[in-house]
Amino acid sequence: MPIYEYYCSKCNMIYQFLVRRMDEEPSPECPKCGSEELERVMSTFSTTRKSTGDISDMVDDPELAGIDEDDPRSMARAIRHMADEMGEDLGPELEEAISRLEAGEDPEKIERELEEAGFGEEMGAPGRDPGLYEA
Ligand SMILES: [Zn+2]
Repeated sequence: MPIYEYYCSKCNMIYQFLVRRMDEEPSPECPKCGSEELERVMSTFSTTRKSTGDISDMVDDPELAGIDEDDPRSMARAIRHMADEMGEDLGPELEEAISRLEAGEDPEKIERELEEAGFGEEMGAPGRDPGLYEA
């Protein structure tokens, strides 16, 4: 049986739900606050992926399918594209990181420095509820 993860923005927590039916999208309620507006958590937060989360894990846009992770300029283009799609301001840290990618610096090094600078936490990384609930 698959386990889906849902994020409750009110609790800033991720909950795991056991899904018994595959033929319809479940619409679980938050087990804590009862909110029905849970967001399905996609690969970025998933435990099945590396928890550090490569920048490339955020890429599921077919337009970006050809991205070359080893090419910093290709990565920079992908991040700019995603930011455009989401209509988000990158902020000074990411702007700087992208400029460095465009200058041909090693993406892993830049990513590591962003993490060390606590960049992930500034984005309000959600907590994770250890329980397993039924959808
Ligand atoms: Zn909640």
